Amino acid sequence: MISLNSYGIPFTKSIKRLAISDLRVHLPPYQHSVDFILPIGTDILSAFDGVVIEKQMTSKVGGVDKKLKEIKYVNYMVIKHVNEEYSLYGHLQYRSSSLSIGDNVSKGLKIAKSGLSGLMNVPHVHFHVYKIDNQGEDYSIPIRFDSRVQIYYPNRESNSLYKLLKSYNM
Ligand SMILES: [Zn+2]
Repeated sequence: MISLNSYGIPFTKSIKRLAISDLRVHLPPYQHSVDFILPIGTDILSAFDGVVIEKQMTSKVGGVDKKLKEIKYVNYMVIKHVNEEYSLYGHLQYRSSSLSIGDNVSKGLKIAKSGLSGLMNVPHVHFHVYKIDNQGEDYSIPIRFDSRVQIYYPNRESNSLYKLLKSYNM
């Protein structure tokens, strides 16, 4: 069940798109998450029209220390859209958004900057679209994008991801 809404890429088109969906990192129910490799400080855009319903921008720490897996270390925002779909943007920069809960946003509006917050090794923005089940639990769904995005699925045996990242000077 791919998303009904057609989402934009959450950053400007002039940036090279490297989208990775690593199932070892994104465990169910977040297996449909996509990490876009981006320089730190890139403007992050709302992927669709909606309303800001969650915002956490207080973390100044990020890196590979396992304790950073806790949600309190990740700066993120959630935007609610029509069709009961929600988009989440993670690893944002400390206090990089002037938006408030309840603000309306349109597709393409700048909402924050990418950063290094929470558990991460390579600068990227985490993006997923989710719905909420009858028990109130959220679960990710495959994302329909409004333009072509090639998503790379690394696997344990391959070091091609590493090579790919090197080609991006990261
Ligand atoms: Zn991610």
